[in-house]
Amino acid sequence: MKRRNFFKNTLAGGALLGGAGIGASSCGTQQQAQAPEPRVYTKQPRKMVQIQENGKYDYLLKGGHVIDPKNNINSPMDVAVAGGKIALVGKDIPATDAKRTFDVSGLHVTPGLIDIHVHCFHTFNVLKGVRSVNAEDLCLPYGVTTTVDVGTSGAESFEDFKKLIDISRVRVLALLNIAAPGMTESEQDPRTFKVEPMVRLAKKYPETIVGFKTAHYMTRGNLDKSHPPWASIDALIEAGEKANLPVMIHSEPRTPSDGFPERSFRELVMEKMRPGDIHTHIFAPAYHVGEYMGEQGRINPDMIKAQERGVIFDVGHGAGSCTFRNAVPAIQQGFVPNSISTDLYGANSSSVVLNMINVMSKFLNMGLSLEQIIRLSTINPANEINRPELGHLSVGSIADIAVIEQRKGNFTYCDIRGGVIRGDKLIQCVLTFFGGRPIFDPYGFNSLLWDDNPKDSPYWKSPNEQYW
Ligand SMILES: [Zn+2]
Repeated sequence: MKRRNFFKNTLAGGALLGGAGIGASSCGTQQQAQAPEPRVYTKQPRKMVQIQENGKYDYLLKGGHVIDPKNNINSPMDVAVAGGKIALVGKDIPATDAKRTFDVSGLHVTPGLIDIHVHCFHTFNVLKGVRSVNAEDLCLPYGVTTTVDVGTSGAESFEDFKKLIDISRVRVLALLNIAAPGMTESEQDPRTFKVEPMVRLAKKYPETIVGFKTAHYMTRGNLDKSHPPWASIDALIEAGEKANLPVMIHSEPRTPSDGFPERSFRELVMEKMRPGDIHTHIFAPAYHVGEYMGEQGRINPDMIKAQERGVIFDVGHGAGSCTFRNAVPAIQQGFVPNSISTDLYGANSSSVVLNMINVMSKFLNMGLSLEQIIRLSTINPANEINRPELGHLSVGSIADIAVIEQRKGNFTYCDIRGGVIRGDKLIQCVLTFFGGRPIFDPYGFNSLLWDDNPKDSPYWKSPNEQYW
């Protein structure tokens, strides 16, 4: 079937089919006519962890299929971990070399995922119903080991955010908002766009601050002398140049008004943005087909030209920023975003975004391959934030690992406007390593069957020793 017909037949309007199946998301639901299946699927019953006293590796993930796009690996391989690092990736690594061996047959082993667009600090006005998310809760269960808060904090609020970052169990990095208070009404006020304080902070915390961000500036309202069309972007890029860091931009085109010329997509991506700068929300409805995609649904040649000159196009799904009407034709015509990200904040973690791996599933069902969506969620975003040590399984790199399962079936996914696609694939995370330890393991890859626990082990201890 030609791709165009495939999409025509798979696009469907209306409500979701069925309710949430076991282990399935509300927007990636399996039709209820099918019986619920167990949450972790392998063709054979999975072997329990093999344990031995000695072994040069701390952990061995055995029998899986490794996808590591940076190293061009997409084949059956075992992965050994020692001292928090990747020790070896190869075929048939013996279990006798490891203290603990996990059976991951039937599963995919990938680098820990990197989500470069979330909001996990709290400068929003919570009493107006806008919340951020807890990064740990929405990263580790979905294979995400590195996440980037984009502009929720600014130069005046970052030090408070840093206290949260320091106690987080997941790697949290940050883009500072050009508005010094952070993601508040100040985003509309150029008087709060303070370049020097953010450059100073970026130099003070180079391990955490990976760039700068502007969002929402004058997407509505009248432009005037106090609100010129490019104020936030010009200040942002000045800061990026001074700190030698990339910037992320959420901007929307403006037609000429109030004596100001057009703020055009072409000028933004072909002149203002530097190679390496990131345009997020690339499939948002604000960028209608006629503006972003050109006439008659053809992709705007400026998108291709800008990508060729090094501008980065990021998904940033959010509750308002990804429609299939924009994404499906773009992908059909060969445009692939540089990175997949969620734009997670309070409301969308329980509506259309849910988590990183749900957004990845959507792009898998729009026609990208599993290897492509892993690339767009590992090494590509790592390079975009200048952290090339992350996002791959090279020997000696930090052992951040996601073990995921690709399920086949009949699934539906919805976009932010209630448009639906059908698809035959759904991916789920079943195990996450962070820094060499299995930190998310609810299915017990690192555990024994309950009555196989040795009788002298803590498992059988009396309840006066509490485990919380
Ligand atoms: Zn956002």
